[in-house]
Amino acid sequence: MIQDAKMRFATLKAGGMLPSPKGVALAVLELTQKNDVSLATLTHLVQTDPAMAGRILRYANAAHGGSLRHIASLAHAIVFLGLFRVRQIALGFSLIDNYRSGACANFDYLGYWTASLAAGIAAQQVAAQAQCPPDESFTCGLLSGIGRLALATVFPAEYGELLALGLDDAALRDAEAGQFGLDHADLSGELLEEWGLPEIFHQAVRHHETPSAAPFPAGSRAQALTAALHYATRVGQLLVLDPAQRWERVPSLYQAAAQLGLEDTQVPPLVETVIALWQDWGRELRLPTRDFSDIHDLLSSPPEPAREAGLSSLSMLPLRVTLLIKDADLLRGLAEALDAMGLLVDLAGNREGALRILERDPCDVLMVELPDGGEDSVELLRDLRSREGGKLAYCIVLIPPESEASVATLMLAGASDYLLSNYSEAALLARINAAQRVVALQGAVRAERESVIRSSGEWARSNRRLLQEAHTDPLTRLYNRRYGMDRFAQEWSFSVHSSTALSCLMLDIDHFKRINDRHGHEVGDLVLTQMARVLEGNCRKDDVVFRYGGEEFCIVGPNTTLRDASLLAERIVKGVGESRFGREGLTFPVTLSVGLATREAADPDMDALLARADRALYAAKEGGRNRVVADRPV
Ligand code: GH3
Ligand code: MG
Ligand code: MG
Repeated sequence: MIQDAKMRFATLKAGGMLPSPKGVALAVLELTQKNDVSLATLTHLVQTDPAMAGRILRYANAAHGGSLRHIASLAHAIVFLGLFRVRQIALGFSLIDNYRSGACANFDYLGYWTASLAAGIAAQQVAAQAQCPPDESFTCGLLSGIGRLALATVFPAEYGELLALGLDDAALRDAEAGQFGLDHADLSGELLEEWGLPEIFHQAVRHHETPSAAPFPAGSRAQALTAALHYATRVGQLLVLDPAQRWERVPSLYQAAAQLGLEDTQVPPLVETVIALWQDWGRELRLPTRDFSDIHDLLSSPPEPAREAGLSSLSMLPLRVTLLIKDADLLRGLAEALDAMGLLVDLAGNREGALRILERDPCDVLMVELPDGGEDSVELLRDLRSREGGKLAYCIVLIPPESEASVATLMLAGASDYLLSNYSEAALLARINAAQRVVALQGAVRAERESVIRSSGEWARSNRRLLQEAHTDPLTRLYNRRYGMDRFAQEWSFSVHSSTALSCLMLDIDHFKRINDRHGHEVGDLVLTQMARVLEGNCRKDDVVFRYGGEEFCIVGPNTTLRDASLLAERIVKGVGESRFGREGLTFPVTLSVGLATREAADPDMDALLARADRALYAAKEGGRNRVVADRPV
């Protein structure tokens, strides 16, 4: 399957129609693929595109968080971001600029980018949960749906026809695979791979639409990133949907957030921040964003006090009806009939009276007398509908028989149904029955939605524990080997793409077997835990320290030269020498041997680096233990 997709991708690529960065961004991409890029050359290149230069500056300042001094020069911004990130940012912005319109009739290009931009920002915001650096999360979120754009670009007519069918995502992917030989998710993955983004990104992008079907182990970084993208694209979709559809999507957003370990209370402020940044960047990138003053209400959806009784009792509650009727006879007749049906009736003689009632207590059904379908009626209806208490009400308009022609206009202005002023009892009963059904259904939907949102908090906590346990070694509380090796792979990729140093230290406790034999296994366990604290205490925040196995540990040092690594190792050996191990009344010295190596251009992969560090460790043991050996002269 994957192989088929790869072959298909190769054919598409050969056709030369796939989206690709252009101009300066393409040059940046090519330039940064070389090993030695001077800062001056890159700065010079970016400066030839003032829009790009401005955006990189702006991005750097935003990422920099304003905690330090403002970054004023492009060269500083590039140093601050690093080559790898400048490259990704240039790629993303260039694609937005060059593909903001196209030939596919049913593809909403601007809508696509505006949702993608929000997804990028949302992904950046949950970078910690995604176990991924923020800038990489941004690119990953921004480009997570690029396969859709690619299909629209390569097959404008055919893809337009397919989109016109209005399929859901899963059915669309099936149809795409049938028609084009690969679906948009596979195509997104291939494109990211093509542009040199790390493997974990292509994997996450391929699977983020259906994270539960992804083949990643629970707690792995690939799974975390997939879940983060899933959440981020939901945020993006929410922001571009019609207001009427948004409400339905909120529970799934909370579920996606919970999968990432985010609690229900964390979601609204996160989304509000995304909106603010999205509007900012939207202006900069000339993408249409919207005003979202109501987002807080949409996301928090406070349970209505009168409606907390639960689902079954909800449908049993008598409907609360507000009547806004001027004609005295009509009013009396209706009020009596509704009262006889057991409904709670509030009367209002004019608009102000009705508004007062609505402010006080939201009603289920609003019945409004409208003498005609003219502008006044439409305006009144809109006004009532916009008020807090009238928003969700089922609204029946009462019109004279001669105005029946205006019903369509009134329905558009917010009426749910209509009743002629010379109504029959049967007609009234039918309308009230319909209202009852709709109100009960709405209540059920609302109750379900609230219970989903409420329970997502508990779920988030257990997911967070699970995620943490999945990458922690239970004895030492250091990272476990699987997680450590995952991080190693990521640091490896970053180091290769950004031409920065990367060191690996292998550490093994000397004669550990004797400690077990002399003092018992439990004391041995204690020594392992104490050793873990000594290692952590001597490392920098960016170093990845993990338990490699038994009494062996590994440290991966990003941006760490052979000399730095050797200083770190000496510091650790000294620290171990100065520490006491064992328990109170029974302490003894412990020593450690360390082998280290630094990435070299000739290393084909991270295993090669690891093997060299391991050989150096062996040499340290052979050389008498309690020492540091580097695989090359320092
Ligand atoms: P060397 O200096 O050559 O490294 O000798 P060593 O005794 O440290 O190495 P060896 O590999 O012979 O023995 C390692 C021992 O570590 C054997 C194993 O029982 C013990 N060990 C591995 N995992 C644990 C653990 O979780 N707890 C305890 N207490 N012991 C462990
Ligand atoms: Mg060993
Ligand atoms: Mg040992």
